[in-house]
Amino acid sequence: MKVLTQAQLNGWLDGLARERMLVAPVDVDGKLLYRQVNGSDGISWGFERTVMSPKTWTFPATEPILTIEQGEESTIQPAAALAPTVVFGVRPCDARGALAIDALFLDKDPSDGRYAQHRDATRLIGLACPQMWETCFCTVVGGAPNGTQGLDVLLTEIDGGYAVQAITTEGDALVAGMPGDERDPVLPEPKLTQDLPVLHSGGEWTARFGELYWERLGDRCLGCRICTFVCPACRCFDVRDEVVSRQPGRQVFERLRAWDACTVPAYRRIAGGHNPRPTQFSRLRNRFYCKFVYYPEDFGPLGCVGCGRCIDACPVGIDILEVIAAVEQMAEGAE
Ligand code: SF4
Ligand code: SF4
Repeated sequence: MKVLTQAQLNGWLDGLARERMLVAPVDVDGKLLYRQVNGSDGISWGFERTVMSPKTWTFPATEPILTIEQGEESTIQPAAALAPTVVFGVRPCDARGALAIDALFLDKDPSDGRYAQHRDATRLIGLACPQMWETCFCTVVGGAPNGTQGLDVLLTEIDGGYAVQAITTEGDALVAGMPGDERDPVLPEPKLTQDLPVLHSGGEWTARFGELYWERLGDRCLGCRICTFVCPACRCFDVRDEVVSRQPGRQVFERLRAWDACTVPAYRRIAGGHNPRPTQFSRLRNRFYCKFVYYPEDFGPLGCVGCGRCIDACPVGIDILEVIAAVEQMAEGAE
């Protein structure tokens, strides 16, 4: 295993930024976000969790996917090619979030072309968490603070530097020229949060679908979408055409893809105005059932990786870990 000092890592990142687009956690007016950097300068180290996940680089919040020109002859231009990109400082939960999104966009036929381009162009270098932070619960949903799933490379902070594990062949290629020594240090064990609730099976959730609990919980929900937007595993989107220019006989549109959220009324509304989820509680309930029942049934992975962002971000204190605990209590109460 390669071991390198902070100075060596900084130098390597400086070199990487000259070859590819380098994205890393940066303090933007007091908020930690993944932003393009010119090298190691400006990278925030020792952070807990960014406000937005690195999903913003592989599945942007709003993105043109086509340009359509209508005139005497109409043309369709695909979106511009993507620059090779490395996202540095990815937490293991967020890398699992990328895998959760892959299950829909890449692992099903047909795959999503634009998303595939993003994933092909982007390598993920992880930074292991030394502990679970206040609202983290990755271990409840099958992850770990030092997990490697979804990462190309994982760096673990050790005394005097970092230990480097290449996880994929792309990761091998990425770290091939890295400075440092070859040795096998003992990696620190992350500090885990104890006494977390147990996530019950989809069947236990399904049996609780009609409980009054959901109405009481949903009564608080504002439908503000924040929980969806901060989530590394949410992947619903809407598509719309925006006029770029309009002249007699010639119009240009951009077809935009933008994040959508199941907690808003318009999400499920269908032709004729009927809405199968007419109440806020039914929409919020769907958010949790999607994550723990429908998505794993249909696509494999859970729709939650336990990052805790939605717990921190919800303006009315709706806490997904409390929801998991409530289902656990309801299941135990029924025994
Ligand atoms: S804790 Fe919330 S934001 Fe994080 S993965 Fe789960 S649902 Fe998404
Ligand atoms: S659960 Fe909280 S963050 Fe999510 S839509 Fe409702 S109020 Fe907003």
